[in-house]
Amino acid sequence: MKQFVVVGLGRFGSSVARTLAENDYNVLAIDSNEEKVQEIAKEVTHAVEADATDEEALRTLGVRNFDVAVVSIGDNIHANILSTLILKELGVPYVVVKAQNALHGKVLSKVGADRIVYPERDMGVRIAHNLISSNVLDYIEFAPDYSIVEIVSTPNMVGKSLAQLDLRSKFGVNVMAIKRGKDLNITPGANDRFLESDVLVVMGKNDDLDKLKNF
Ligand code: ATP
Repeated sequence: MKQFVVVGLGRFGSSVARTLAENDYNVLAIDSNEEKVQEIAKEVTHAVEADATDEEALRTLGVRNFDVAVVSIGDNIHANILSTLILKELGVPYVVVKAQNALHGKVLSKVGADRIVYPERDMGVRIAHNLISSNVLDYIEFAPDYSIVEIVSTPNMVGKSLAQLDLRSKFGVNVMAIKRGKDLNITPGANDRFLESDVLVVMGKNDDLDKLKNF
């Protein structure tokens, strides 16, 4: 089973650490602030007060034996970058880092970060999409220009089957799943008919998805 180390226990880091622990993964949580360490100590496998920019401290904690590190030091960009560099140099195979902005992200990829996340920016994009289109419930950027969206069935869809609607050739999108109340159909068939309030989980190019939203 994968072992995780989470560095920086602000709102983002502690939420990552708690969720991993709730899913029964081994988590070493590190923060330089004793209070942050105490707050999470009972919920994760190990919680340690340490400075993540101190190479010797990280070596002693045996971070090289972990599969994944999540660096979620926020305001102190210098500490965030230095800690990422040390974790990579000590041999952590996969390091995910929270970045403040695109330039910070560029530096992080130069020092070896395997994945860079921008939680505030991404959440802002998701919320904005949700606000712009009343029938879009959720939105995930999947790749540049491609997304997965949750759309409430439009009046033009109600009573029709996937075969009749032919969304693949009309819009170039793929219906991955249909939610109906608490039921989730992850293998929608050609003859499944849409009801009012069905939610379609659709993957496609952003331009094509925009057309589908207004269909
Ligand atoms: P969030 O938005 O996730 O709440 P943030 O982006 O505001 O957090 P900070 O509060 O600046 O981020 O940092 C997150 C945590 O990282 C803090 O608990 C802080 O104590 C810890 N931290 C900062 N520098 C270091 C360091 N050198 N070593 C270990 N932990 C650190």
